[in-house]
Amino acid sequence: MRHFPTFFDLQDKPVAVIGGTAMALQRSRLLIAAGARVTVFARTLAPDLAELTLDGQIRWEAAQAEPADLAEYRLAFVATGDAEGDAIAAEQARRAGVAVNVVDRPELCDFIMPAIVERGAVTVGISTGGASPVLARNLRARIEAALPARLSELARFAASFRDKAKSLIAGAAERRRFWDAVLDGPVAEAVLAGREETARSLADELLADGAAARKGAVYIVGAGPGDPDLLTFRAHRLMQQADIVFHDELVGPEVLNYVRRDAERVYVGKIKSHHSKSQEQINELLAEHARAGKRVLRLKGGDPFVFGRGGEELDYLRRQGIETIVVPGITAALGCAASAGIPLTHRDHASSVTFLTGHTRDGELATDWRVLARPDQTLVVYMGLSNAASLAAKLLVAGLPRGTPVAIVERGTRPDQRVSTGALSDLKALAERHKDGGPALLIIGKVAALANADIQTFATSLKEAV
Ligand code: SAH
Repeated sequence: MRHFPTFFDLQDKPVAVIGGTAMALQRSRLLIAAGARVTVFARTLAPDLAELTLDGQIRWEAAQAEPADLAEYRLAFVATGDAEGDAIAAEQARRAGVAVNVVDRPELCDFIMPAIVERGAVTVGISTGGASPVLARNLRARIEAALPARLSELARFAASFRDKAKSLIAGAAERRRFWDAVLDGPVAEAVLAGREETARSLADELLADGAAARKGAVYIVGAGPGDPDLLTFRAHRLMQQADIVFHDELVGPEVLNYVRRDAERVYVGKIKSHHSKSQEQINELLAEHARAGKRVLRLKGGDPFVFGRGGEELDYLRRQGIETIVVPGITAALGCAASAGIPLTHRDHASSVTFLTGHTRDGELATDWRVLARPDQTLVVYMGLSNAASLAAKLLVAGLPRGTPVAIVERGTRPDQRVSTGALSDLKALAERHKDGGPALLIIGKVAALANADIQTFATSLKEAV
């Protein structure tokens, strides 16, 4: 380790910034945020820096800093924008006995600035010992992604429970178990989801039950359309916490790879047209494992609330009094549209988009087809492949022109995605091509002609027609 990592308390302490550049402004802003009393030594100031002096947030000395001026300061930050100016300023500070940092000149620095990730009171500093600022920034981006946005709320929440935990739990080891249970489970997730009331009552229950009795919970998580890069940060975090995962056929191995290695995996999807487990059985399984204190991950393709029966699961679990968290996912319509290049509501072609299912509980979709057959809208049909012919017929009868563009996106967002386009009158033949493939979505409306298709019928005339 070349540099010693510390966090300096600069609250109300005098700090010198030497130079009036944009970098000096950046440093000044950080120092103000840390509560320091900032004085800038510079003959001229960058406009925003001048504004800070006018606001009285920083003091301005329109002169070169001499050692005698600098002695009173705790730290000095140099950013004059000029190599010689930097060297002189650093030397003056050093002669005054003040630790100095010079922007982009590690050889002139007594201390260096880390790349910072900040979540309120929680601060992460990253240093490569001056070797590579770009590497430090790179690491920062990764840490940014790993730390939940409400981490500082979690820190505050924990602080507010400290006295209570101390008075109610005598042993240090037991207290540690309590904190482990709080910070890595449903209580923390409730805080991170902005539900502090729930978190408080869950934490109180934990305190009352003794830390040994870990509370279970169910996480109903949208896994997106297939590409694991489309998981949300929260989905990823909960996947890493799960003790057991229940998944169906829409969740492929690429996504399952991100579930905690030790988690038990249970497949509860459909096999062809019959369910391997009924919805009631699935509901009971989820509840049973949560009651046993497990963190149960219910991983569902796309979004759990879009044709995903997540609503039924949530309803059941809530009625059982089981803590349940729902995490949205990118639904197939949005994933497929993006990866096939179909702007669902391109303003030249569609003023609305409708998501519908080609398959209802009773088989047939009872709807007013004239409403769906309007020309300036986009229809996205889930589970529509096997009924494509009858769907097309109904739309044609209701008045949608035969030449209306359609697209079929199969295995959208996955490496083996297949897209075909054609006209509505052609939908039946197009659907045939995808019959034995993976999950597929129908997109009907003028925007479908904009797809980057692998298979196109009438492609040129379609694009011209739009
Ligand atoms: N909850 C899911 C939808 C479940 S219904 C979501 O929000 O996406 C299952 C249907 O979704 C499939 O029949 C298919 O029409 C569609 N689907 C899901 N993933 C898909 C994908 N990667 N590509 C194309 N269609 C997909």
